[in-house]
Amino acid sequence: MQNLFSRLFKPYNEEAPGKALYFFNTYSREKELFKPIKPGEVRMYNCGPTVYNYPHIGNFRSFIFADVLRRVLAYNGYEVKQVMNITDVGHLTSDADEGEDKLEKRAREVGSSVKDIVRKSTKVFFDNLKSLNAKWSQTEFPKATDYINEQIAFVKTLEEKGYTYEISDGIYFDTSKFINYGKLGNVDIEGLREGARVPENPEKLNQTDFALWKFSRPNENRQQEWKSPWGVGFPGWHLECSAMALKLLGRKLDIHTGGIDHIPTHHNNEIAQTESVTGEKFVRYWLHNEFIMIDGKRISKSLGNSIYIRDLKKRGISPLAYRYWLMTSHYRSKINFTWSALDGAKTALFRLHRFFIEDLGRKNGNVLQAYQVKFHEYINDDLDTPRAVSLLHDIMGDETVSNEDKRATFLNFDLVLGIGFGESDKQLVENLSGEKQITLDEATKKVQKLLEMRNRAREDKNWVEADRIRDEISSMGYKIVDDRKGPKLVKGK
Ligand code: AMP
Ligand code: ZN
Repeated sequence: MQNLFSRLFKPYNEEAPGKALYFFNTYSREKELFKPIKPGEVRMYNCGPTVYNYPHIGNFRSFIFADVLRRVLAYNGYEVKQVMNITDVGHLTSDADEGEDKLEKRAREVGSSVKDIVRKSTKVFFDNLKSLNAKWSQTEFPKATDYINEQIAFVKTLEEKGYTYEISDGIYFDTSKFINYGKLGNVDIEGLREGARVPENPEKLNQTDFALWKFSRPNENRQQEWKSPWGVGFPGWHLECSAMALKLLGRKLDIHTGGIDHIPTHHNNEIAQTESVTGEKFVRYWLHNEFIMIDGKRISKSLGNSIYIRDLKKRGISPLAYRYWLMTSHYRSKINFTWSALDGAKTALFRLHRFFIEDLGRKNGNVLQAYQVKFHEYINDDLDTPRAVSLLHDIMGDETVSNEDKRATFLNFDLVLGIGFGESDKQLVENLSGEKQITLDEATKKVQKLLEMRNRAREDKNWVEADRIRDEISSMGYKIVDDRKGPKLVKGK
């Protein structure tokens, strides 16, 4: 009985070799077969937002990547324990532990309390996540300031083991004592150690050493500080992830994610301090997403080129269209954001939703096996979402299969893609088709109205206007065909 039970509930990839799951591991720089530490269960930690401001659409690439990863793991039958940190202290303006705490700085600039900024930014983060269809009811979101004792205990252990030293501004980790320091992403440690550049803090023993605990400066007037065995201060940014991962997920993680900017410093530091505490390998698979760029520059709050989810809404673009746009690129490729690319995604997603609602009816048939096999293979190939999405378009044009089966297949794929088919028949498809929030019925009415306007323009011999309206109709997925009774609308371009 026990055997039968465990056989039935084994994850797909162990049961069926064709469904093997592969991830590109930044650590080995190779695509590797995924094998969890504990069969059927995955422990995953995702680096989350620093809540000194609202997260921008680049940050959300990182979070949506984590969402898709969680969905892919669940699709493969795994139970996922997921933790994403909320950084509300200690992240300095430079990753090299110099500069000011981003939260204290922001509070001073806007004349507000840190607590207020954290509350507002965290709320927007969760609201935006929801509008992007990231369903994270099972996920834990620990805040760094709620785990100060754990962070202090972590530093104490490092101190006892001889990995730390004190200088005038804090307690530091001595990276020369950790043999494999910098292995993730193959950071050129020797180059750094030889001091190619002047060390930013001359008191540090090695340029790569990082702060575990920083002391409050005499006249700093910090809003957030705590007593510790070493003096009043606050934890270093890298420390929170290690301490909270250890507390909430245990000594070893299956997966750890973040954006590529975290590889050289933040994640190497996490590895060094955690492995020095536990004496074991910290993470089996490191996965990193590439950047979203604008005009060749990374979107970043400090460059002032940020676009926020609310900016999409202002332009009448649903966050779901942004999610769809993200799916059409691989998470490891750099992508350039343009409004016209997003408009294209909006039109494509609108067409899929309209097809789902208007053509596929209300009854579910069976998931189409041939398509599902391919879908599963694509998503299991290091989350190849562009190929997975293209299957939706193939299914749409396939005349050999029934609408009921197409519907069931769309819903099945949406378990991973999360682009809203599950909600599509209940709710309005927010903003996919126009300036304001309109339902699909309203969208169809709008196209008909445009046809009437075009007919009037033609009667007035206003050919320029008539052509313009034809293009607008075409961008909504319809073409105008003239038959004996006059012009009529047909779906397609
Ligand atoms: P932060 O709030 O700065 O701690 O960043 C949160 C997450 O967003 C991190 O995993 C970053 O690596 C990621 N990130 C920051 N900028 C971008 C960008 N332009 N494109 C993609 N990911 C980004
Ligand atoms: Zn982190």
